Amino acid sequence: MAEIVVVGAGVIGLTTALTLEERGHSVRVVGAATGAAITSSVAGAIWFPFWAEPRERVSRWAGVSRRWLTDVAGAESRAGVDVLRMLELDDQNQTPWWGEELEDLSLIAAADVGEGARDWNGARYGWRFTAPRVDPRHHLPWLESRLARPIERKRVASLGEALAIEHGPPSVVVNCTGLGSRSLLRDGEIRPLFGQVVVATPDGFDSGLAMADERDPKAVFYVIPRRDEVIIGGCTAEWTGTIADGVLPEADPALTEVILARAARYGVVPRRILRVVAGLRPYRSTVRVERDAADPRIIHNYGHGGSGYTIARGCAEEVAGMIERGA
Ligand SMILES: Cc1cc2nc3c(=O)[nH]c(=O)nc-3n(C[C@H](O)[C@H](O)[C@H](O)COP(=O)(O)OP(=O)(O)OC[C@H]3O[C@@H](n4cnc5c(N)ncnc54)[C@H](O)[C@@H]3O)c2cc1C
Repeated sequence: MAEIVVVGAGVIGLTTALTLEERGHSVRVVGAATGAAITSSVAGAIWFPFWAEPRERVSRWAGVSRRWLTDVAGAESRAGVDVLRMLELDDQNQTPWWGEELEDLSLIAAADVGEGARDWNGARYGWRFTAPRVDPRHHLPWLESRLARPIERKRVASLGEALAIEHGPPSVVVNCTGLGSRSLLRDGEIRPLFGQVVVATPDGFDSGLAMADERDPKAVFYVIPRRDEVIIGGCTAEWTGTIADGVLPEADPALTEVILARAARYGVVPRRILRVVAGLRPYRSTVRVERDAADPRIIHNYGHGGSGYTIARGCAEEVAGMIERGA
């Protein structure tokens, strides 16, 4: 059994901590910010590999996470996870890379659906599969409630500081600081990608069906129902503004209009908008799940881009395996 400090209290840190505790390790979570102040709180958050590399590892992590989230959905309503039907629009009929491991993936052609495809915005095909959808408002507190100890509110200036934490130094530190790794490690490879979503009342929406269209990566569309609201997105844009951990970027009202106009092309017109939120996806050319070359007591787990919820459990299990094998 290892003594572990997890730095970071977003979906990655909390999922990693829970996975490690389930495998018998002793874990403390240290996080500077929590709740509605962090990126993990603004996510959709549906299972779908999006803006995360490399594909082969992301596919594996996504498969593990999808099975785990599906089990959680069946076992614990308060975890805020439900399994939805998903329709992903496409112009190609070759199985996409993210769909290769999906046992329930099926393709339908707009031509065969006829009138039913009038809201597909010209897409020729639709991929159907089931996808767990997480509600961060319930899921993040649920993850914390499952841990042996509450999150310790603390900002570390270096991972060395986490290694020297009082009350007995840990044998391992897992770095789950997301975008925070940019300043913590001076990792220039991590890039913030701005995203914004409109949250609306759920009346008029099918509560079991999510729909997405990523054919144009600069103008993505998705609608993701929750139990009591619906998420309409979205956008992905390079961010050149300031980055402050625990402070989300302001939503852009002009972008809200763009998102709503695009949604209308899919027949999605919300009755009442509840709020508009924005966040910065911690994108990296490759998600970093590896042991630190200079200090083997440190394991990194950050840079999950637009797929944090989609791959969190798979990454966490890989981290656990590294600790247990001493790899
Ligand atoms: C609009 C939008 C929609 C999205 N939709 C989806 C979706 O549908 N599906 C999906 O899978 N993903 C989605 N994502 C992506 C997902 O939100 C992220 O990949 C995920 O939240 C990243 O989690 P994280 O724990 O790494 O980072 P964060 O949530 O940012 O957490 C980082 C933690 O580290 C802490 N920290 C940082 N620096 C320090 C320090 N020096 N000392 C101590 N603590 C520190 C922070 O305080 C925080 O607790 C979306 C993102 C956005 C913005």
